[in-house]
Amino acid sequence: MADYEEKSYWLGSSPYEESPPLDGSTKVDVAIVGGGFCGLSTAYYLKRAEPSLRVAVLEDRVVGYGASGRNAGFAMTLMGFTLSITNLRFGKEKAKQAHDFAHRAVDHIGQMVDAHSIDCDYEKPGLLTVALNPAQAKRLQEEIELAEKLGIEGLKWLDAHMMQAEVHSPTYLGARWEEQCALINPAKYVRGLKRVALEHGVEVYERTPVEAAHLRRTPHLDTRTAWWRRRRWCSPRTPSPGASPSCATSSSPSSPTSSSRSRSLTSSWAASAGAPARGSRTGAT
Ligand SMILES: Cc1cc2nc3c(=O)[nH]c(=O)nc-3n(C[C@H](O)[C@H](O)[C@H](O)COP(=O)(O)OP(=O)(O)OC[C@H]3O[C@@H](n4cnc5c(N)ncnc54)[C@H](O)[C@@H]3O)c2cc1C
Repeated sequence: MADYEEKSYWLGSSPYEESPPLDGSTKVDVAIVGGGFCGLSTAYYLKRAEPSLRVAVLEDRVVGYGASGRNAGFAMTLMGFTLSITNLRFGKEKAKQAHDFAHRAVDHIGQMVDAHSIDCDYEKPGLLTVALNPAQAKRLQEEIELAEKLGIEGLKWLDAHMMQAEVHSPTYLGARWEEQCALINPAKYVRGLKRVALEHGVEVYERTPVEAAHLRRTPHLDTRTAWWRRRRWCSPRTPSPGASPSCATSSSPSSPTSSSRSRSLTSSWAASAGAPARGSRTGAT
């Protein structure tokens, strides 16, 4: 069993073929660290906007290994804060803007699924946020009133009787119904995004943990791909003035390395979209 399959129900729910790691050193225009929703979408949109760019995604394990392959699969307008909390903290205008943005994001997932035939068990059943006690019912009703004041459509209150028709249970006093919510298998979606990115010419390297990012002078990343297979030496650190990013590899076991591990290198003129988040890593093999 592959090391990711048991990390979530989704990651083990369909067969998956990994892309090979970065083998050796290479130069790209943009190197993106992390093959989650953000990294793959950024790569895809960069390539779509400027096909001549060479764009690479470097993923520690496999795409979707992080939150993108382990979430609940709700494509919804909730972005951490409820509408009323966003309104309290940032005011009406920002709350409405945030909601509108999230609304478009849900549509965007549906559009990606349709446009690229991404098989991710997509359905759009809407969202019920249920009330189990009167205090919850009041809060949900207030949310709906606030949404109406802000000009947000697609929300309504279902009373206990209407809830019975939806879910035949005496537990619920009512629910806030929101039309704008879809369900996906997120691992299948992120793998679909990878396929779409590849089709547009993005390079995706899996099993390629980035160990360090050097973003000044000649930007480059240190990876640890297959370091046990071959020792490498990369030396772009002191380029001559005006020189473009450069790198060298050597298969000689005695080549100098600046760490106890050998390293490969990716040069780029743009910073990575996702910083090499050591905290979010779960370790490398
Ligand atoms: C339990 C849970 C449930 C959630 N439920 C929902 C939900 O229902 N709906 C919703 O919209 N959102 C949900 N979220 C949030 C959502 O999953 C995240 O916001 C989203 O997946 C973040 O995507 P990302 O690309 O930024 O990060 P990630 O998917 O975490 O991608 C980061 C990638 O970078 C890789 N990486 C890290 N360090 C390195 C390195 N040094 N070198 C190379 N690669 C590296 C990781 O392996 C990972 O694949 C949930 C999150 C969690 C944790």
